[in-house]
Amino acid sequence: MRFGPDILRQADILATFSEDAPRITRTYLSPQHRAAGDYLLTLMREAGMSASFDALGNIVGRYAAAQPDAAVVMTGSHQDSVRNAGRYDGLFGILSAIACVRDLHRRGVRLPITIEVVAFGDEEGVRFPATLIGSRAMTGQFDPDWLDRTDESGLSLRDALVAFGGDPEGWRALDRRHAAHGNVVAFIESHIEQGPVLLDAGLAVGVVTAIAGATRQRVRVTGLAGHAGTVPMGARQDALAAAAEMVLAIERHCTEHEGLVGTVGRLAVRPGAINVIAQDVDFTIDLRSGDDRRRHDAVAAIDDAIRRIGARRRVSVAIETLYDEAAARCDAELQQQVAAAIEANGIAPRYLASGAGHDAMAFPAIMPMAMLFVRCGNRGISHHPDEIISAEDAEVATLVLLHFFEHFQSPTRAIAAAHATQPTDTP
Ligand SMILES: [Zn+2]
Repeated sequence: MRFGPDILRQADILATFSEDAPRITRTYLSPQHRAAGDYLLTLMREAGMSASFDALGNIVGRYAAAQPDAAVVMTGSHQDSVRNAGRYDGLFGILSAIACVRDLHRRGVRLPITIEVVAFGDEEGVRFPATLIGSRAMTGQFDPDWLDRTDESGLSLRDALVAFGGDPEGWRALDRRHAAHGNVVAFIESHIEQGPVLLDAGLAVGVVTAIAGATRQRVRVTGLAGHAGTVPMGARQDALAAAAEMVLAIERHCTEHEGLVGTVGRLAVRPGAINVIAQDVDFTIDLRSGDDRRRHDAVAAIDDAIRRIGARRRVSVAIETLYDEAAARCDAELQQQVAAAIEANGIAPRYLASGAGHDAMAFPAIMPMAMLFVRCGNRGISHHPDEIISAEDAEVATLVLLHFFEHFQSPTRAIAAAHATQPTDTP
């Protein structure tokens, strides 16, 4: 194997840059972020790239094309982690991309495209109340209000950036680059699947079609409290029994409709006593799909089912939407190029949506985006120390990414955008 064992070894080394070893926790702008970044800079430079931290703590490596004004393809993922994380989430996509460049460099190959490998400083949003800080800054979506947000110790993002050696105003330069397009024509992220679909299908890799959109709602069910011993069953307005039926209706709808997942993760009961019929129940709904229409249809159907159950059980129902985020579509032409790279490695392309959020979701706003998923072992467990990628799968995924770079064609959308920004010849 050319790549797999090296990538796993590098992931083991990165796992040691942790705030609570032997567990893995690495938050944005921590000393461990600095150490992991320094290690990645070394790997990038050994692979023939010019590399440095940017003003916001992203680590950026660049492997220039033969032509100086060539199109740039950006790739990468996040260096930060959740608390008690696995060792491949985020880092795999960075290490696999560096391995591709190292291979090109060793063979003395310069491609018609410049490859930029980015290790985004923050994706998970563990330290500051904001997510995707790195990728949003790279795509002109940095919110300056984030600078005043604080971590648990009360330190603001602004002060943490200064302490890290960064520049709180550095997002402006990234914004300007975005405005000038920086000649970046596409973004591709390779990432561990964090679920069992590829594992169950017996496939090492798959093509991501979209990053799921999500709707989050809060439902309040109000019945009538009463004595558990004296109110006859037929006379009850039991908010908890009604909520239980609603939870099962949500599960049934999402089970019966493909491409949809729904979760009730929280339920609060009042008064919450063993001998009192429940008066109020609050519960949450989290609905996700790669297809926005399917998700909106499901929201409507589920809300309708909840109201019907409420009416039949004589409890009142209030539904509040807390959050509604559209799916991030992967570019159709880039999906074809990823599929072709998978086929070139003797594997039938399998298409799947991502239920989890990723850096890549920041990109469709300004450029075509693609994602490659790598099989997650151990029943698909992730955000957990038992997260696994095999050396064989790391090898295949890297060969696929390399093929993608070597055969890259600018998508129509990127070409159209470049024409639209060219100066016109007015007399
Ligand atoms: Zn991730």
